[in-house]
Amino acid sequence: MAKVMAINAGSSSLKFKLYEMPEEKVICSGIAERIGHDDAIFTLKYQGDKKTEILPIKDHAQAVKLTLDALVKEKIIINFDEIKATGHRVVQGGSYFSHSEVFNKDTEDKIESLIPLAPLHNAANLVGFRAFKTILPDVPAVAVFDTAFHQTMEPQDYIYPVPYEYVEKYGVRRYGAHGTSHLYLSNESFKYLKDVKHPKVISCHIGSGASISAIKDGKCVATTMGLTPLGGIMMGTRTGDIDPSVMKYCCECEHKTVEEMYQIFNKKSGLLGVSGISNDSRDIMAAIENGNKRAELAYQLFVRRIADFIGQYYVRLGGADLIIFSAGIGENSPETRQMVIDEIKEALHVEINDELNKQLKGKEGLISTSKSAIKVAVIPTDEEIMIARDAYNMLLK
Ligand code: AMP
Repeated sequence: MAKVMAINAGSSSLKFKLYEMPEEKVICSGIAERIGHDDAIFTLKYQGDKKTEILPIKDHAQAVKLTLDALVKEKIIINFDEIKATGHRVVQGGSYFSHSEVFNKDTEDKIESLIPLAPLHNAANLVGFRAFKTILPDVPAVAVFDTAFHQTMEPQDYIYPVPYEYVEKYGVRRYGAHGTSHLYLSNESFKYLKDVKHPKVISCHIGSGASISAIKDGKCVATTMGLTPLGGIMMGTRTGDIDPSVMKYCCECEHKTVEEMYQIFNKKSGLLGVSGISNDSRDIMAAIENGNKRAELAYQLFVRRIADFIGQYYVRLGGADLIIFSAGIGENSPETRQMVIDEIKEALHVEINDELNKQLKGKEGLISTSKSAIKVAVIPTDEEIMIARDAYNMLLK
């Protein structure tokens, strides 16, 4: 038995889950938010209890120290030595990493070199790793990449039709994201496909960030996110795929720089931008109930883009055996699942059981009927367990 920590560091947050491995038992979890502020928030969840504290946290190193001190104070661990390994989420692994990697100088250098491709994410992921290294210098660590699962795509699926020297010189291509989640979903899908020789799966990770992957024999063949997580389907605040000339035209009209418009495409678009209300699907649904037409339009767009990609991937895979709904919206919103299925059912002969669909909120199960040409399942994703597994298997087994 060994305690392993899965870590997801953002630019101003540090999320963690502590596991007992290999039992995969969650011991506790928590998050430090608003790092860098005097009114930062530290939350610890342990044995059904949730404790929240507001206090100054100046940087990630302090957040790590605070986290570990809290674990000792709550008698979750006796001392820091009990943590035997850490696993860190890294958003961009570029073409370097097709699986998780032990952290060493080379790994760190490569992640650092990829910062231009994911400025907010990779820099923050590294800050998180280094903060742990400062406080726990002898504890080994692995990097688990959001892009790794998508490295099996063929060039036809990942090359953009820009001048080819941009691919060679700058690494411009589709890398995808949410790969750890899609891999988890792919692994979980096999139990529904025991009788299928070469399973074809379309996994829909629909949360505030959203992406869809086409998976054949457990390998990713296509995914919606692109060079960065901005590409693909419409999301809570991101545009997803749009005609690139929208960027130029909007910059001209609004007298904004590319960087400013890029922020708007990332943070003020998607469900939020179209509805003008919120990036949260629950708020949009409530507004639709109240007759808000922009909210309705926003959701129709959102659903259609999901359906369009399911159709595209059905063709790409040469059929499909299973469609998976996952993440915040996919797991918890029967209405969204129903709307997506309504868009594809005529072409793909998919049918779901209304009652089963309504029952499943945050729980796993099949929602398709026996007549459906493609099985449809809700599978709650678990990226943290994938990180903890890799940390345990690569460092401690
Ligand atoms: P995630 O990024 O996977 O954590 O998903 C977060 C999003 O899931 C939120 O912004 C909501 O839009 C959505 N969500 C969470 N819970 C529910 C729910 N019970 N019903 C509908 N949507 C939900």
